[in-house]
Amino acid sequence: MTHIVKTNLEAIRQEMLLACQISGRNIDDVTLLLATKTVPLEKLQVAIQEGATLFGENKAQELCGKLPLMEQYKQVEWHFIGHLQTNKVKDVIHHVTLIHSVDRLKLGQALHNQLLKENKTMDILVQVNTSYEESKFGVPPEEALELVRQLSQFETLTIKGLMTIGKLHATNDETRGCFRLLRQVQAQIIEMKLPRVEMGILSMGMSGDFKVAIEEGATLIRVGTNVFGPRYLPDEYYWNENKPIY
Ligand SMILES: *Cc1c(COP(=O)(O)O)cnc(C)c1O
Repeated sequence: MTHIVKTNLEAIRQEMLLACQISGRNIDDVTLLLATKTVPLEKLQVAIQEGATLFGENKAQELCGKLPLMEQYKQVEWHFIGHLQTNKVKDVIHHVTLIHSVDRLKLGQALHNQLLKENKTMDILVQVNTSYEESKFGVPPEEALELVRQLSQFETLTIKGLMTIGKLHATNDETRGCFRLLRQVQAQIIEMKLPRVEMGILSMGMSGDFKVAIEEGATLIRVGTNVFGPRYLPDEYYWNENKPIY
């Protein structure tokens, strides 16, 4: 029987294609990242067999738990998408190619210090709290320019763009507003013409709002639930399913 992850992945790719067609965009300009928090290795293996090449992890500890998978599948790239504590920087920088969640100078400084020590460099995104929800991490939009300016002093870091989490449980118009705001901040930062600041990546859109995000210019969407299923239910729940969950 077809594995649910395969079915879901195919459905997502179709929807991505449709969203690109609607907004006159090229599908090659939108990357699909699979958010892997709490997802068992077996499901990740299915995703890899179905051609998934980019995973995003939220916690340093869970990331390190996936090291055997990284060893086995060298073609898979890992990003860090969760809140990053400064004392976890060491554990993360060896395993990921992009950190989406840099939202404060102190974290930038901690990354820079560790990278200098190890003679390494790192690509990062600056996370912006476009929904102004207190529960979310991210720099407020009006402070983003100053943060990027400060972060651009660290020569070990390349700022590749911005990341945001759209307002959850909101209307399409509300989330669209979040994504538009991120794009405005991006435009302002481009104007500043700072060293090591590229702004080519807009990481926005999750299971509930990735289509809107694509319409609003996302170049990278982060999808978990729609591919792997709701995280609060046991895996047994899906074993007899062969249609998309949502
Ligand atoms: C979990 C997570 C996602 C994926 O969310 P879904 O709603 O499950 O698709 C995306 N981005 C971040 C930062 C996440 O933590």
